[in-house]
Amino acid sequence: MREEDRYIEFLNAAVAVCKGFDNAYEFECPICGGRAWVLQSSCNEHHKAACEGCGAEFTE
Ligand SMILES: [Zn+2]
Repeated sequence: MREEDRYIEFLNAAVAVCKGFDNAYEFECPICGGRAWVLQSSCNEHHKAACEGCGAEFTE
């Protein structure tokens, strides 16, 4: 898998599990299968996600 595809998989998995603002949602990292978290801010509606396993993260 290309680097960008892994990143998109991670982003999609994070956004899919995020059901509300200002709560951390846990999901399985599609890259390493580890534990990852996503949080959507009610201020700017941006997502932040990070994986404890492989260190993948994004802010959008
Ligand atoms: Zn991971």
